[in-house]
Amino acid sequence: MYEAAKIRRDFPILSREVNGGKLVYLDNAATSQKPRQVIEALTDYYERHNANIHRGVHRLAEEATAAYEGAREKVAAFLGAPETTGLVFTRGTTEAINLVAHAWGRKELREGDEIVLTEAEHHSNLVPWQLAAQATGAKLRFIPIREDGTLDMEEAERLVGPKIKLVGCIHASNVLATVNPVEKLAELAHANGARMLVDGAQSAPHLPVNVEELGCDFFACSGHKMLGPTGVGVLWSKPELLEEMDPFLGGGEMIREVHLDHSTWNDLPYKFEAGTMNIAQAVGLGAAVDYLDALGMDNVREHERKLGEYAYRRLSELGDITIYGPAEDRTGIVSFSLPDVHPHDLSQLLDEEGIAIRSGHHCTQPLMRRLGTVATARASFYLYNTEEEVDTLVEALVKAREFFGAFAK
Ligand code: PLP
Repeated sequence: MYEAAKIRRDFPILSREVNGGKLVYLDNAATSQKPRQVIEALTDYYERHNANIHRGVHRLAEEATAAYEGAREKVAAFLGAPETTGLVFTRGTTEAINLVAHAWGRKELREGDEIVLTEAEHHSNLVPWQLAAQATGAKLRFIPIREDGTLDMEEAERLVGPKIKLVGCIHASNVLATVNPVEKLAELAHANGARMLVDGAQSAPHLPVNVEELGCDFFACSGHKMLGPTGVGVLWSKPELLEEMDPFLGGGEMIREVHLDHSTWNDLPYKFEAGTMNIAQAVGLGAAVDYLDALGMDNVREHERKLGEYAYRRLSELGDITIYGPAEDRTGIVSFSLPDVHPHDLSQLLDEEGIAIRSGHHCTQPLMRRLGTVATARASFYLYNTEEEVDTLVEALVKAREFFGAFAK
């Protein structure tokens, strides 16, 4: 039985107070909180095993290497990756996508080639491709968003043609709460000889993910959004693709032989892990994946689906509120705005009661323009949030509306 109340006891931060109120943490799309198990894995690593990896032959170096490589195995299994050689540790989603845009993009893209993205991309899956396009002469094309926030797949079929070299898409939106049909986009990309990149920053923490079933060529996600520490994430790709790519960063560990005028590259995935990696963080991510596996990602998804629907319904009852994204098939994110209230002011007012929501453009400025706004408020839920917390949010919004209404008069 899934019991959020029991799960909450694993998260020390959830019992703290903020401004005299009980913390209601609803900014999980930005970063998640960490369970004791992850915090203890970090402490244990530093207290007992800390050493640099792959280099030393002493006991600690061997233990640290085993812990780091063990984490790689756990994350690969969590994402349904068929082997660990395609699983590269990065600093997070942003770095993983930059890796692809450099190591694959700069090598494979030519003048006149096209890259297809969507209007709802996070800047992390947009700016690296703008830079790659500037460097290579490739062009960017965008799949539009329909009024309800879902992707216009008819337009996608029209856009994806023989000039396309890459289709890149968020698996789940950090604003609209949509889950995009990335499997269909992958089929479309492959039918046209293009590669498919999935930005899984908002899916890997919340839905069961299997990179083979998605049919993608590149999958990126961030550890800190899925109970893990900051500073670690992954890029998964097919080993044969990674093999063909040039290195991204040069330095120690990613080489096999270095001469004064040239070098050769290490085996996968080390070819893409230059310098000392975020070892403790990777170990912490391994513990986070253990935690998620123990809960079961189907259960996590179901809990958040219900919570997202409950929040959507309760917020809709407020009447004069705009909620972005589709009414159904949502993840646990609700982006909204109240008339005549700036999201920043709202967020600040809620903070006075210990409620943490996000306000701003959520690193999706083109999407904000498409939605006809510059910023929204956003409540984003995770596996430890409860219906009571949604109720607390709604009560605070009612009060905030009265406050700002009186202020406007
Ligand atoms: N992609 C999406 C959809 C996101 O929501 C985020 C973070 O908010 C990112 C990419 C970037 O993740 P990171 O900052 O961990 O690299």
